[in-house]
Amino acid sequence: MDKKYILALDQGTTSSRAILFDKSGTAVSAGQYEFPQVFPRPGWVEHDPEEIFRSQMKAAHTAMEKAGAGAGSIAAIGIANQRETTIVWDRETGLPIYNAIVWQCRRTAHICDELIREGAAAAIADKTGLIVDAYFSGTKIKWILDHVPGAGSLAASGRLAFGTVETWLIWRLTAGKVHATDHTNASRTMLLDLDKLCWDEGLTGRLGVPGSMLPEIKPSSHVYGEVAEGVPGAGALAGIPIAGAAGDQHAALFGSACFTPGQAKNTYGTGCFLLMNTGAERARSKARLLSTVAWSVGDTVEYALEGSLFNAGSAIQWLRDDLGIISTASECDELAESVGDNGGVYFVPAFTGLGAPYWDMYARGAIVGLTRGATRAHIARATLESIAYGVGDLVSAMVADTGLTLPELRVDGGASVSDFLMQFQADLLGTPINRPRNTETTALGAAYLAGLATGFWRDKEELRSIWSSERVFLPQMARAERDGLVRNWKRAVEKSLGWDEESE
Ligand code: ADP
Repeated sequence: MDKKYILALDQGTTSSRAILFDKSGTAVSAGQYEFPQVFPRPGWVEHDPEEIFRSQMKAAHTAMEKAGAGAGSIAAIGIANQRETTIVWDRETGLPIYNAIVWQCRRTAHICDELIREGAAAAIADKTGLIVDAYFSGTKIKWILDHVPGAGSLAASGRLAFGTVETWLIWRLTAGKVHATDHTNASRTMLLDLDKLCWDEGLTGRLGVPGSMLPEIKPSSHVYGEVAEGVPGAGALAGIPIAGAAGDQHAALFGSACFTPGQAKNTYGTGCFLLMNTGAERARSKARLLSTVAWSVGDTVEYALEGSLFNAGSAIQWLRDDLGIISTASECDELAESVGDNGGVYFVPAFTGLGAPYWDMYARGAIVGLTRGATRAHIARATLESIAYGVGDLVSAMVADTGLTLPELRVDGGASVSDFLMQFQADLLGTPINRPRNTETTALGAAYLAGLATGFWRDKEELRSIWSSERVFLPQMARAERDGLVRNWKRAVEKSLGWDEESE
């Protein structure tokens, strides 16, 4: 085979990235372009869908130029995308009728409140695996149809199409020939029946979304179509098959080769995203973790549980940019390691409330246990430790929900470079932390999915052998010490709960 590469498109919230991977899973070249964030009102977040496409194509061209790679040397394109972000366009003109409403956007919170007041939350959780929240696409589609003049009647006449970002990119790249999503992205719309894996008519009806707007649902590893000739901005990609698509966190789980039930990955970024493979069975969570499709390859669909921390690396940024007690993120590690323990200081970074397993929107940040002997080093250490405690809470909830044991935790994301954090996480979980050589797991997962669909890679076994570890952090802490730390963390969390409510 003369095809040397897979082109992974990693369409993120703040930038579009593209990476060329070779057969050994090595990133050969990359391109990355940021695009504007649009904030029309407090709490509202939008992107221009044209900017998403343009920046993504620029990134792809840059990666190809750097490697001197033409379309002829690329076996397939795989897409990983920011999830839930919602685009509605006119099939005839090809133009979006409104900006993309980004996953972070809170404008549809009132629609969610209404659903909750109607008593629909339990049935929706049962059907979709999700908690009712403005994050997910369903209420965002409703908002566009209700607020863009003429949208309702255009939708009723079958002219409008809805897509999350991968659907938009596939539609644009195939010049409107393919209107499709994959199971993982579909599972974030709050419109998918998670057991039957089809659009749920009860939910689409309740949110006023006509079936004609919805994309076909396909496997994550699947040949969707080829890049058409003459697509403006995509010229150099013409003829390459698009053969994989998945939401970014799902792609990262796949790129971490977490193919066995119980295997999990955590991304340590601005927030944290922990996903655990639960196998062919969907888990039902008592801690209100999300159930989601992990990926689908051929006829096989696998599920995952997902939990997230709203604030993780952002707490380190807060120390740097707002408190000014560190000047770089890595200084946080040095300070943390300069003291033998946390000095009794605990930091709960509940800047925007706490998610699973506490679910308290009124929780606010707290630093407790301060004495006159506390220093900025203790606060730095408490900040890094807080990330590990938060992840520990999610892992405990997942283990309780599934009865699965975690063989190890695989990691990626900006803060996974912190050796202190990784060692503390291993100590706290009593589980090894495995940091891969290639931490670009999101793009790698998209490449894997596309490579599997086109025979570039043979099977998951081959992918498992490509994944390689850079360092394993083994648990070293005595159980009694760990239990004491966790007990104090829980006491600190108690102090932060309900804070905003009490102050009103
Ligand atoms: P995102 O994709 O969410 O924007 P990244 O995966 O790029 O985030 O990770 C960025 C986060 O990583 C920042 O919040 C930063 O505080 C944290 N970070 C970066 N370097 C370090 C470090 N050496 N130690 C601890 N945290 C770090």
